[in-house]
Amino acid sequence: MQYKSTRSQETVRTAEALLRGLAADGGLYVPEVFPENVLQDWDEPGLSYQDVALHVLSYFFSDLTGPVLQEAVQKAYGENRFDHADIVPFYSPEAKVTISELFHGATLAFKDLALSIFPYLLSAAKQTSASTEDILILTATSGDTGKAALEAFKDVEGVDILVFYPAGKVSPLQELQMQTQTGKNVKVVGLVGNFDQAQTFVKEVFTDPGIREKVNRQGYIFSSANSINIGRLLPQIAYYVWTYRQLVERGCIERGESFNVVVPSGNFGNILAAFLAQKMGIPIGKFVCASNRNHVLTDFLMTGTYDRNRAFYTTNSPSMDILTAGNLERFLYYLSDGDRQAVSRWQTQLTEQNKFTLPNALLEKMQRNWLAGYLDDKETEYWLRYVYHTYGYVCDPHTAVAYGVYEKVRRQLGEAHTVIMATAHPYKFPFTVGRALHLDEQEDPFAMALQIQANTGISVPPALGELVTRPRRFKETVTPAELTQTVLDFAVMQRNRSDKNE
Ligand SMILES: *Cc1c(COP(=O)(O)O)cnc(C)c1O
Repeated sequence: MQYKSTRSQETVRTAEALLRGLAADGGLYVPEVFPENVLQDWDEPGLSYQDVALHVLSYFFSDLTGPVLQEAVQKAYGENRFDHADIVPFYSPEAKVTISELFHGATLAFKDLALSIFPYLLSAAKQTSASTEDILILTATSGDTGKAALEAFKDVEGVDILVFYPAGKVSPLQELQMQTQTGKNVKVVGLVGNFDQAQTFVKEVFTDPGIREKVNRQGYIFSSANSINIGRLLPQIAYYVWTYRQLVERGCIERGESFNVVVPSGNFGNILAAFLAQKMGIPIGKFVCASNRNHVLTDFLMTGTYDRNRAFYTTNSPSMDILTAGNLERFLYYLSDGDRQAVSRWQTQLTEQNKFTLPNALLEKMQRNWLAGYLDDKETEYWLRYVYHTYGYVCDPHTAVAYGVYEKVRRQLGEAHTVIMATAHPYKFPFTVGRALHLDEQEDPFAMALQIQANTGISVPPALGELVTRPRRFKETVTPAELTQTVLDFAVMQRNRSDKNE
């Protein structure tokens, strides 16, 4: 498989696409020939999540050496990596609705599903390309990617990882998860700014020859663990295929019958994976994009104008506090039938004027199967409480946003079965969950979690409990102006780490 940029004819092999993360022209890599409708006839019953993942990934990463992919899938989704044997289990609150739980991995967010396999894909790519440099992973996070990437790459040979998160704009437990990260090849820095600034910086670094050369002199090449990287994005397709197969096996839908998906969205990676699953043949009817008060995506899907000239809000669903949806570029590419000139033009307008508008024909095409909506913080708490009181099910605030938006657009969805993607474990956001359920507020997030446990009977996952005793290793914050130097210092420091020179 070859990969092409969304903006030009730049073409690279799979290994390079994985290693580089971002195309040299600033565009995102997409498969040169997308494997369309390949899953249509593929429905042997009884396959495991691992089987499904292997099948899906073999279309995209077939040129990684021999048994590598199989091994990667086994290690990533094998024993004890997820706290549920199905990897992604389901809960059905009512006959026509299913909740797909994507949060059973090590860091309790859906990012674990792709990040548990990404390091193996990256190592395979490195072997294939015969490059001798180490890999320096730069990652911007709105809260969950950072921890999932740190866990995935800690103490991995030949890789060092630096994570930037918006200081004070993630949940206290998300921050603690990152600050207490172990591993000798990791560093976490709080950025005095927001996620968009962190992501923009990471993208700039990838296309800036100056800093690349300096880091290269330390023996590193850059890569990214954000969903701009195909190694992050494409493994996410597997859980949509899995979800479809499970709906059929459980008798929720007939084979080939379409279902809708509701996805709480920020950087547009998760819902894009649903869109790609549909291209591969999974019968998804409508895509519902759910946002919080930073509803730039809702407005885009309703009007065709993407306009990030607006206030940024810190909300109670912080992993979606994003105004520049990094993966939208790939969607625009497919929506326009691969019109690279149009994609480049929209991206230039976005950079220069902070907005762009789709032609009417494309808006109409998009609106045939895309719906959108958003909730503010109060509504998010309301729907979280509603779901608990109605079904006895505790969801996290991001999932509550998806549920509330589902209720708002329900009439437009018709009779088809609908799946709500549950992206995080509720205990990652104990203050919001506690407030929504009208529990007494506690000062400490752990005390709050225990309070929720006492009231709902749902146990606090061990991964969170362990954080209490871990020291906070990383408390540093930097300003946007200091980011470049932070990267260079990290490269030098890690290069001189004693165990690297043994
Ligand atoms: C990352 C994240 C999202 C947003 O997903 P995107 O792929 O960026 O659209 C939603 N919910 C949670 C809990 C997340 O961690």
